[in-house]
This record gives sequence, C-alpha cells and structure tokens, in this order.
Amino acid sequence: MKEGMVLKTGRAANSDDMEKINRYTRREFQPEEVYTFSVVLCDNEIDRDGERFTVEALKALAGLFLGKTGIFNHSMQAQNQTARIYDCAVERDETRRTKCGEAYCRLVAKAYLPNSEKNRDFILELESGIKKEVSVGCSVSSVTCSICGADLRHGGCSHVKGKTYNGQVCCAVLDEPTDAYEWSFVAVPAQREAGVIKSFSGMEEVEKALSGGETVTLTGEQSRALRETMKQLEREASYGRAYRAELENDFVKYASVAQPEIPAQTLRRVAAGMDLDDLKCFEKAYRARANEALPLTPQLFRAEKTEPAGGNAPFKI
Ligand SMILES: [Zn+2]
Repeated sequence: MKEGMVLKTGRAANSDDMEKINRYTRREFQPEEVYTFSVVLCDNEIDRDGERFTVEALKALAGLFLGKTGIFNHSMQAQNQTARIYDCAVERDETRRTKCGEAYCRLVAKAYLPNSEKNRDFILELESGIKKEVSVGCSVSSVTCSICGADLRHGGCSHVKGKTYNGQVCCAVLDEPTDAYEWSFVAVPAQREAGVIKSFSGMEEVEKALSGGETVTLTGEQSRALRETMKQLEREASYGRAYRAELENDFVKYASVAQPEIPAQTLRRVAAGMDLDDLKCFEKAYRARANEALPLTPQLFRAEKTEPAGGNAPFKI
C-alpha cells in the first residue's frame, strides 16, 4: 500500500477530459455533470517501508490504474465507490532528486465522479482538504535489493533497508507491476492507521501479516489462493472429523465388549473427551481385548462355537 494525495480539485473538465470520461459512462455526460480532480497515486521516492517504484513501474501502473474506481475507507462495497480514474500519467520533475539520485517522478491520476446531490458531501470534503490522502494498492512481480539486485521475495540478501552502502541507500526496488487493485481516500485523522495497509506479493507474506494482526489488503489472485487454501483445509478437516467419529465408534464398540460393565453412554462421553492419540491408543487396546473376549471376525465367530480363540479369555465374564 502506497500513499499519495489529492493534488487539484474542482478542475473544469475540458473536451479532452470529457472524451476520456465518456469512455466509462453509460451515456454521454456534459462537463457540468461531472466533478474532476487529480491525485498523486505514488512516486519513485523511497517510502517509509524502505521501498521504491522504478520509473518503468510507474509507467506500467499508469495503464493499470486506468478505469479503476477509488473507494473511501478501504471498503470494497460497491455503494462506497466514489470516483473513477479516467486519465493517468507519470510526471517528471527534473529539478527534484530522489534519495537514489533519480529525477523525481510521480504517477498522477485524474478522476471524476458524478456531480450529484449524493456526492455533494464527498466533494465538499475533497475541496476542504479533508480527503487529502489517498492510498493505493498494487502487486508487483519483481522486488529486488537496490544494492545487490537480490530477489527479495525469495530469501533475499544481507543488506538492510535504510542503511547506506558505499554512499548508496539500500531499499527494495519494486518493478514489473502486475495488478493495480485499489486506490482509496484516507480520511486524514486516520491516515497513520490506514497507511499501515501493505501490499503483498505472496501468500507466505499474507499469512505472516495475518498472524501478526496487521491490516491486510489482498489482490484478487491472493483472495482466490486464500479461498482455495481454506477449501482444502475444510476438506481435510472433514476427513479428520470422519476419521475421529469412526475411531470413537470403534472405541465404544470394543470397550463395550471388553468392559460391558461400563455403560455405552459413559464410553461415548469418555471418547469425546479424549485427544486423538489417546483415543487411538485406547481403541487399539480395547480392540485387542474385545477380540480376545469375543472374536470379531466372521471366521473366528464360527470358531468360537467350539473354543474361544486363544483359549483363555480374561475379559469374558
Ligand atoms: Zn542486497
């Protein structure tokens, strides 16, 4: 998750804007029917996570963010969708240098929303600067060390982000964006919290963040992977439950034979309370005893008519 901010509000839409906007509308809108503003989505400066986009990545993101709707408060609910990006481009500022010594580049998006009664409060908040911050989420397929070029998604290297090596500051270089999945307005009082949301490149990272209690934003691909994992776990859990139920039944069955003085409902309660290892252990022991007391296989049943297997059946009363 990267952060940007609202740049300009209340620009009058010109014919070029209207042509682009009308690509996304069901009918042709007139300039007075739309409200437009621009936002800086991200730049090539090192952010507080010690990461930076390459200029190439920003250019690719420009294409990926086209048509994307911005949301408020990170809600993915459709009714909260507020504005749509209709134009997006990288702006280069040669007079300003990044910590890496590159010309400062930023990804600037133009967005519109219907100039409707429903959006009036939102527009007011934009104009007043309350909705100043935006955060963006995207995924990249390349994350490398700025010092040695090591792939940081798999293992990585010994360089530490933020440290300087031979006059070069170490950061993670984000490149080859694959998906731009959201941009949202962050109400300023909550910005520090909201800014914590990160973008993740792999399921391992997601699991790590989830276990650490972080706020997590997932790409469509990651959501699908997580759903798949959950389905798999549910399947496995159902096998596990079936196995346990069978084991409990067997335990009760054999224990009833081996120790008929214990009521079946007591055995069921005991079975339900045991952990799986204990249950396996008791089931095995009682199966052996039950088999001695009352041979359980059909052949032995027939044999029992003459003489119980083994001759001595200590649990047969
Ligand atoms: Zn390195």
